[in-house]
Amino acid sequence: MNSGESPPAPTVVVLSGAGLSTESGIPDYRGPNGLWRRDPDAEKLVTYSFYMHDPEIRRRSWRMRRDNPAFRARPNSGHEALARLERSGAARVRVITQNVDGLHQLSGLPDDAVLELHGSIRSVECTGCGARSAMAEALARVDAGEDDPDCRGCGSILKSATVMFGQSLDPDVLGEAVRLTQECEVFLAVGTSLQVQPAASLAGLAARHGARLIVVNAEPTPYDGLADQVVRGSIGQVLPPLLDALRR
Ligand code: NAD
Ligand code: ZN
Repeated sequence: MNSGESPPAPTVVVLSGAGLSTESGIPDYRGPNGLWRRDPDAEKLVTYSFYMHDPEIRRRSWRMRRDNPAFRARPNSGHEALARLERSGAARVRVITQNVDGLHQLSGLPDDAVLELHGSIRSVECTGCGARSAMAEALARVDAGEDDPDCRGCGSILKSATVMFGQSLDPDVLGEAVRLTQECEVFLAVGTSLQVQPAASLAGLAARHGARLIVVNAEPTPYDGLADQVVRGSIGQVLPPLLDALRR
């Protein structure tokens, strides 16, 4: 029987990583020009125990935050192609991002289409009372001469509202990511080395639940063998035509 209605738009879940934002001028960690290949010590800046116990690491972190290119970055053709696919209505696009730069939202994807698995650099959280505030406010204090600003409420250490190594993910956000992954028709991993868990394991979960798994990355990932399609190349060039093909 044909009711005359077109079938519902498939759900495309996108797991994005730092490689999606390199063409916006934000370096990744593990790519050929990644921060960790240039400065092996940089890993300490995003490791919770070092951050909490070493004031010098915190001072370096605040200087890095102040100079972070992400605050001036604009979405690139990869982010824009994803937003275009969502707007076209040809697919229901849900992004699970490991990125903390907020560029998916700036590209025009609605807030409720983006799950920030690793948090956001645009907010600050207190490690004592949990209070949240704007990053811009904390950076203004750094500019005014405070090299390690503390919580105005309780005096504890402040950090960016990102998930550092050694911290657990927000269980509600992870639970929603798992649900989306289990229910999607297409799972696209883009610009991620798929080496950070539990984010990377979502690719395997998607494949086990019958989604079409597509990996788009310049370098091989541990999940390429499971994928239905592996696309190598620069994301800004290969992602727009790949997504346009999904609209047909
Ligand atoms: P990663 O650094 O481990 O891997 C990035 C991958 O992208 C690499 O394999 C690299 O070859 C590939 N890549 C880089 N530029 C590319 C391009 N233009 N085209 C195609 N491929 C490209 O990144 P990850 O898997 O996201 O894990 C890093 C962790 O660091 C995440 O937890 C994330 O939170 C954090 N991080 C975020 C940002 C950001 O928000 N933009 C930047 C750096 C690190
Ligand atoms: Zn506090």
